[in-house]
Amino acid sequence: MPELPEVEAVARKLRAALQDGGGPSCEIVDCGQFRPTTMQEGARAIGRRITAVDRRGKHLLLRLDDGCFLRVHLRMTGNLTVAPDARLRASTVRAWFALADGRAVVLDDPRALGRISFHEPGSETELFRGLGPEPFDAAFSLDHLTGAAKATKKPIKLLLMEQKAVAGLGNIYAAEALFQAAIHPARPAHKLSRPRLAALYTAIRDVLGAAMASAEQAYDRPGEFAEGENFPVAVYGREGEPCLRCAGAIRRMPQGGRSTYYCPKCQK
Ligand SMILES: [Zn+2]
Repeated sequence: MPELPEVEAVARKLRAALQDGGGPSCEIVDCGQFRPTTMQEGARAIGRRITAVDRRGKHLLLRLDDGCFLRVHLRMTGNLTVAPDARLRASTVRAWFALADGRAVVLDDPRALGRISFHEPGSETELFRGLGPEPFDAAFSLDHLTGAAKATKKPIKLLLMEQKAVAGLGNIYAAEALFQAAIHPARPAHKLSRPRLAALYTAIRDVLGAAMASAEQAYDRPGEFAEGENFPVAVYGREGEPCLRCAGAIRRMPQGGRSTYYCPKCQK
């Protein structure tokens, strides 16, 4: 499942590929889909130009020249790329938008779980209600994280996964940030002191920052992408292996329907 770093990598590559975003060549002249559930009202984008590629949490936003936008969620195996020729599409392409210059923005998605939807101007606030601030925006401050933590008795890992405290953290990077901050994933959020939350705040940004670089290299083969690929994980997926800090065994426990990896000695 792509997390924020992978989705950001897709956004950057798409931005670079479109280069002349906003120009006439980025006008959408045709579109199609291969599963009815893949795209809702995609045809409404025809005749509009793609002016920018944004990311919000794990969502990609293709801005159109009239303020409307397409929202793309990659889900498990999706990748949004530019194909050099709209007529030549891989069999795993589930949705495509042909551009005026002959290229196409394609949703390549072997498992066909990705989603595209069309949205009117001004609908963004409502659409992303409940989604917390971006981890590298000023809105994500230590005060914000502290406020979110003090407001819930849930385990800190589950709070991080909820997207309200901060957008974009998933199972891998939440576990890695908690290890770096030496916080046990099951610790109730409201019991964490401000210094410990400060360590977590720093760790979230450190981990996501490092992951962005590795994701930009790794995320170009949809369907073959392994979680955390190229990222030097300390705990995720390492059950039974030695902790990089104390050499004790990394453990796995179920939490919120997912597996959480942690070091019982280093994380309290
Ligand atoms: Zn350890």
